[in-house]
Amino acid sequence: MAEEFSIRFWGVRGSIACGGPDYARYGGNTSCLEVRCNGRLLIFDGGTGIRPLGEQLMRDGAVVSAIYLTHTHFDHICGLPFFAPLFCPENKFDIWSGHLEFPLTTRDAVSTLMSAPVLPIDPDIFRADVKFRDFHAGETLNPSPGVVLKTMALNHPNGATGYRIEFEGHSACYITDLEHVAGEVDAELVAFVRDTDVLIYDTSYTENEYLKKIGFGHSTWEAGLAVAKAAGVPRFVLFHHDPAHTDAAMAAIEHEASAAARAMGIEAVAAREGMVLRPGQALPVAA
Ligand SMILES: [Zn+2]
Ligand SMILES: [Zn+2]
Repeated sequence: MAEEFSIRFWGVRGSIACGGPDYARYGGNTSCLEVRCNGRLLIFDGGTGIRPLGEQLMRDGAVVSAIYLTHTHFDHICGLPFFAPLFCPENKFDIWSGHLEFPLTTRDAVSTLMSAPVLPIDPDIFRADVKFRDFHAGETLNPSPGVVLKTMALNHPNGATGYRIEFEGHSACYITDLEHVAGEVDAELVAFVRDTDVLIYDTSYTENEYLKKIGFGHSTWEAGLAVAKAAGVPRFVLFHHDPAHTDAAMAAIEHEASAAARAMGIEAVAAREGMVLRPGQALPVAA
């Protein structure tokens, strides 16, 4: 039987969580991905989407996992204090980040979030076996036998890390919170994502919005598709949706982006909460 390699989206929104009927279709939780490599669970980012993931994991029993943060901006870590499995002694987590500069550490960043008077609890309240770990973007990590995790520094204020997850002859790249340079295709990024099965990419802005938000650290689907095309990537996932992009706006963006992708021979879909993709297989149909 084929090994399981799947990615479930628990949070797809950028910057701040959005509630209400205008966000019901694509989802309002901020970044969180559940990656399964056979029995091994890897979590990417701890945005508000990690809270409902935690509810599911609590039903499934003891958890051993690593949480890989792209970076420690608020929208990517604000769910951690509300991730129930961190409060259970039978669980074990390594929480990693690779974007910080010495002497700052992953623990420092999470402690800054979890400190008075912002929050009444600090990370010592976690009852699980939690280890905060640091790497330098560019290193290759080995979360478990057979799983290779390549990393790359991204162009983002305060830094961010892109990930390439390789397992059983397939791969997926999680490239969020990066800003492209208008009119340029980043050769280093193209090399990093080359021939991957699926590229999940920061498409926060439309081209018009981008022009007003240069320096904010985000990108567009047009820039992402240019990377995918140059790197021979067959599937593209729009991610880190701007809070201004309601379901109606997202549907229009997804329609336009997937038509442009199709013209390049690339499949594209906008990430939505609950969507599951399997690297190497066709993408789920659009919302
Ligand atoms: Zn973000
Ligand atoms: Zn950010």
